[in-house]
Parts: sequence; C-alpha cells; structure tokens
Amino acid sequence: MDDALPPAEPFRIKAVEGIRRLTRDQRLRALEAAHHNLFLLKSEDVYIDLLTDSGTGAMSDRQWAAMMAGDEAYAGSRSFDRLAESASEVMGFPYLIPAHQGRGAEHVLFSALVAPGQQVIGNVHFDTTRAHIEHRQAVALDLAVEEIYDAQDRSPFKGNLDVERAEAHIRGVGRDAVPLILVTVTCNSGGGQPVSMANLTAVRALADRWGIPFFLDACRFAENAYFIQQREPGYAGRTVASIAREMCNLADGCTFSAKKDGLANIGGFVAFRDASLYQKAIPWAILFEGFLTYGGLAGRDLEAIAVGLKEVVEQPYLEWRIGQVARLADGLRAAGVPLVEPAGGHAVFLDARRFLPHVPQTAYPAQSLACELYADGGVRGVEVGGVMAGRDPKTGQERFPRLEMVRLAVPRRVYTDAHMAVVVEAARLTLASSARIGGLRIVHEPPVLRHFSARFAPVPLSDLPRSPETRAARGS
Ligand SMILES: *Cc1c(COP(=O)(O)O)cnc(C)c1O
Repeated sequence: MDDALPPAEPFRIKAVEGIRRLTRDQRLRALEAAHHNLFLLKSEDVYIDLLTDSGTGAMSDRQWAAMMAGDEAYAGSRSFDRLAESASEVMGFPYLIPAHQGRGAEHVLFSALVAPGQQVIGNVHFDTTRAHIEHRQAVALDLAVEEIYDAQDRSPFKGNLDVERAEAHIRGVGRDAVPLILVTVTCNSGGGQPVSMANLTAVRALADRWGIPFFLDACRFAENAYFIQQREPGYAGRTVASIAREMCNLADGCTFSAKKDGLANIGGFVAFRDASLYQKAIPWAILFEGFLTYGGLAGRDLEAIAVGLKEVVEQPYLEWRIGQVARLADGLRAAGVPLVEPAGGHAVFLDARRFLPHVPQTAYPAQSLACELYADGGVRGVEVGGVMAGRDPKTGQERFPRLEMVRLAVPRRVYTDAHMAVVVEAARLTLASSARIGGLRIVHEPPVLRHFSARFAPVPLSDLPRSPETRAARGS
C-alpha cells in the first residue's frame, strides 16, 4: 500500500452467490452423514468453504467476457493460440500442452519421462504428484530443507530444496535413476511455503551438473514470485511479472493447475522449453487428455486461463490476496490458535499436534480437528496429516508425517475479511473445547488417495491410547 488507507479488495462485486449457515445440530448431523470426512459433505451445508483454493476462485468480468469468444474447434482452436501466447508471455515456455487439470499434466509428463524404479526428487511433492509418480512405479522423494518440518521456524523460504542432500542422493543412486527434479512453488504440502530465487538458481546448477531436467510444479508461481519480491534481497523493486518470468527461465518446463494461479475453475497444462521433451509427451497427451489444441478442456476454458494468467501477476491483486491470508493468520494467532509459521501464500495451517496434544497420530488429530472446526463454525478445512499421507505402496504400512495440520485454504477473490473474522471466531470456540475433543479411526479405506473417500468413526477421549505428549504432561 502506498498510502495510509487500510487494505481492501482491489475489485468490486458484480455477481453474488448466497451461502447459508446451518445450526450446530444440523452441522453435527451432516458430519455424521459424511462419515467424519469433510470431502463427503454437501457444499450447501458448508458456510465458509476453505477446503481448497483449487478451482474455487471467482473469475473476473474480463475472463467471463473472453469465454464468449471460445473457439470450440477440435483442432487448431484460436483459443489454444491465445492460451499458448499468454503462457509464453507470462512464463516464457514455448511449447504448451493443455490438460484438464494439474494431475492430467502430471500424468502426461511422468508417462513421458518416468520409468519404473526411478526416483523423482522434489521439495515436498503434492499428493496427486506423489500418486502419479507411484503410479509409474517410481519413488517420489521429498528433499526439502529441514526448516519446513519445524512448525515454529520462521525462515522466509521454507519451501527450498535441500540441494546438497539432493546432490548426495543423485551421486548415490546414479544420474540415470533420476528422470527429473520437480520443485513445487509455493510448496503446498509443506505449508504453502515459498522457494527463493537463489534456491531455484542452485537447483538449475545442480540439474546442469548432472544433465537432469528441472521442472516446476508451478501451480502457485505468482504467489511464489510475490514472496520473492517481498522477502528476497534484491527483488523489492522488481515487478512480480518479471520475477515470475525469471523463476520460469530457470526451469526446463512446468506442470500447472489453472485452478490455482490460472484464476480459472478448471484446466491446466504442461509446458516445455525443449522441443524433444515436448515431442516425447505428445502421444501421451493425446491418449489421456485429448488433441493438443484442447487437452480435455472447452475452448472457453482455454480463454479464461489465458486472461487469468495475466491477472494473477498483477501487484494489487497479489498484495490483497496474500495480505488476506496473512490477516487470517494474524487473527488466529491473536486468538491463541497454534499455527504452522509463517503463513503460506494460499492457506493458513493449524498445527494439530499442539492444538490436540492428547490425541496420538494413530487417532488422526488433524482430521478430528477439521471436523470440530466444521461443527463449531460451518468452516470446512482439510486434513494434511496421517490420513492424507496414506500408506507406503510397498509395505502397506501407514506413513505418519512429521506435521499434522489442518489447512484453511482461501479461495481467490471469493470471501471478504468479514468471512475471515468468522473463521477466527470458530477456531477460538474449537480451541476453548479442545481438551474434550477425541480422535477418529478409519472404518472404510480406499487403496489410493484415501483421504478423499475414507470413512471414520469417533474415538472418544477415554478410548485414546496415551500419546508421548500426554504421558509427558502427566509426568509418566
Ligand atoms: C492442486 C495441485 C496439483 C494438482 O492439480 P489439480 O488441478 O488439482 O489436478 C499439483 N500440485 C500442486 C502443488 C497443487 O497445489
């Protein structure tokens, strides 16, 4: 802000969508009907929906207008040209294959580049990314810097890749075992934490030393660029657009979900700098997503993304967007709610281990906390913890991550700060009753991506195994 006025939305509202608030009893019934899995709730039973920032944003009048100009031709669509031009202007990648969403882009890229037994090195792979790598019978290896696993560490770039460990790993397994390095900006599964330009530059050098392709998972590339502008020495005077371009210039390509920083409700793409990698991906793209000029999307969707890519790097938008998330974090912190610090770009993460120290990881404290927050305020977040981490595909053992979090992801241009105040109040209520909150057990579990459809039953306080934290608190 260049003057003393308070921050406010850099838009006025042209269309509205009503939402309703159920009573607490109605919410408890809805929770039971959804088997304590918030993915199974009806959206109309949710008051403030912070399940995801994916595809949930509001489009601008310019995006809606562009949709009318969609060219729905099967091949050679003018809308594809407009998207490819926009992506090349904003990101600088000359070859683009549209996909129905980010995971479609992952499916195409990994089918082309990843063979069974190989290892894809990344900071913290997103869940669909990990699942797609494992679907190729390869290993998704997380090598983020240690800070990301410390919920209280306030380092500015906790999403960085640990380049030294990555290099040691490549040396150990051999170059041919690593088909690509994939750095996620911002690092969603690691708390929405940004990656610095210095780190991306070091990853580029690492990739060059070994001759390994370096891709970005660019879902939130604009938010990452904004953090670089705000936090990294030397970037304060630069435009976000120029920083975003510099980030992309370091990579050989990217996967992208347009449902995030495409400011669209659906879509994605995989982009390449190198013609030969692009050529390798083409047959898979046609097989899985559709012809190269539509990729599972309507022409109008391509138009919406083409406009969204330009709007998302605008300074007033990002200042407000990241600011709203930061103000939500400020409110929660002031209410005493334990958070993963610092706040991410698109989301605030509640630290479920500190929120519910008496619930052991085997009773899914973050899932339990997410359910309680819905019961208390009609606010829907999502578990990012043991449930989402799932099982090791080889051993079948549950993987318990170091952090148990509830992610409150803020849709773009949808809610006002008044809604955020309700979220803070709901969390305050949940915190006040936290000592009475128990855990959950799984009663139905699908084989992959279990968090989307698993069913749970409550485990009352009295039936919880005592966690190390509780034992410590009780002095035993
Ligand atoms: C959302 C997301 C994806 C997958 O994109 P979809 O459009 O949901 O398929 C991949 N990586 C990251 C970091 C994401 O946030």
